[in-house]
Amino acid sequence: MPIWCPECNAMLADGTEECPRCGAHIGAPEPENEFRGSDIAWFSAYTIAIILIPIIVGVGIALLCLFLFFIQN
Ligand SMILES: [Zn+2]
Repeated sequence: MPIWCPECNAMLADGTEECPRCGAHIGAPEPENEFRGSDIAWFSAYTIAIILIPIIVGVGIALLCLFLFFIQN
């Protein structure tokens, strides 16, 4: 199945990554985008963990202090 260059409409062999006529990039960047997407997902999960863990620890310490305060009274 032949493909056509989106820039100059030259007919290209299937699997051509770069148009030999105008140099436009043809290769489907979908797998690369998926890989980047999963990288971003991992990065955001890591960021959420880094942000949430101190908050959870802080809330835990605050609750413990409140608990001890009410126990003592
Ligand atoms: Zn082209």
